[in-house]
Amino acid sequence: MRRREVLLAACTAVGAGLWPTRRSWAGQAESRDLDTPARPVGVAIVGLGGYGRFALERLRATPGLRVAALVSGDHGKASGLARDLGLPPDALYDYDGFDRIAADDRIDAVHLCLPVGLHAPFATRALDAGKHVLCEKPLASSAEEASALIAHAERRGRLLMPAYRAWFSAHVQELRRRVHTQAHGSLVAIDAHKGFRMELPADNWRFRRNLAGGGCLCDIGIYSLQLCRWVAGRVPTRVMASASYDDARGGREGLEDHLAFLLDFGAGVTATGSASWRHRLQNRVQVATREASLRLDPATPAIGEQLEVALDAPARLETPLLPPRDQLPAMYQHFAQCVRTGSRPSIDAQDGLDDLRVVEALYAAVRSGGWVEV
Ligand code: NDP
Repeated sequence: MRRREVLLAACTAVGAGLWPTRRSWAGQAESRDLDTPARPVGVAIVGLGGYGRFALERLRATPGLRVAALVSGDHGKASGLARDLGLPPDALYDYDGFDRIAADDRIDAVHLCLPVGLHAPFATRALDAGKHVLCEKPLASSAEEASALIAHAERRGRLLMPAYRAWFSAHVQELRRRVHTQAHGSLVAIDAHKGFRMELPADNWRFRRNLAGGGCLCDIGIYSLQLCRWVAGRVPTRVMASASYDDARGGREGLEDHLAFLLDFGAGVTATGSASWRHRLQNRVQVATREASLRLDPATPAIGEQLEVALDAPARLETPLLPPRDQLPAMYQHFAQCVRTGSRPSIDAQDGLDDLRVVEALYAAVRSGGWVEV
């Protein structure tokens, strides 16, 4: 039997500016005219690759923000996009001239869509220029870099938020709600997988350690690690992992193209999962509680998640009906609200650091072949 539920309440809270704020990131609201609702938060998109251009379209359609500038190493591409957006020529920057954004009052914040190894250097420059930073995943190429970045953002009194769009999924939040309220009994285990068949050419930045930080775990495994942490509600205490390598996909630089993991969250809760550039598309998480099996599949597309809950006595399958939500506009609006009010985001830079701590423990576990504490 199939039962349908409509869960609008959970959806309206997600990214709609209704999150409880945990604490202020700087103890101050943006002092310029941003507290005027009519003044949209101006964002510079940095890096106009595949994802930068995807994000650009979402940003331009999001009320309360506007594309204020483009930063690119490809002037022709940037000029063409600027023309479409109606941006003046002086709203284009290249990487060498990036620091000049300090004098540009149209820019309140940057969204960094650069290769991972450039996240920390450009986030530091943006913070030094007095701008807020929304940074693509992972937050940096190491936990040490991420810690330094968090401290730097605090010193500069500017917001640093990881662009963890999946947090703004109504389905992910509904899954968390059911687990955390023990709606189906206590949590037992999590199984999360994300992967696809990688077909980028061998000279892509994703296969260069200095630009990528890591292999498939850093690229897409971050999503599965996030889901495990968010569902468990904490960071695992110890981890174990096994990885494999392919020379055509960063293997020579020690970058994995498949990694299977085991996370121990304590109190009898474990998570298994994988990240892969080897197999066909997989994007799912299955959560076992004492009384239910909750399956999110696909789990973390930008839009189009599906949640199914299998229950016993009587045996049945529920499909909570949540209105489809495009995560990026919700993420941008939450970021803008935090910039305006000085409140701490519901998903903050510490989450980005937590994932990198788990990533590094997993790499250490691959090397040691045993359990590694996080
Ligand atoms: P692309 O390779 O498509 O684009 C990266 C862009 O960065 C380039 O086009 C270039 O832009 C700029 N760039 C600057 N310096 C370099 C360099 N040395 N080598 C290569 N590119 C450089 O990558 P993606 O857009 O897929 O990824 C960018 C970021 O977005 C990464 O952090 C990735 O993890 C993240 N991402 C997030 C996703 C999500 O769903 N949240 C999905 C996909 C990626 P230009 O030509 O304008 O200078």
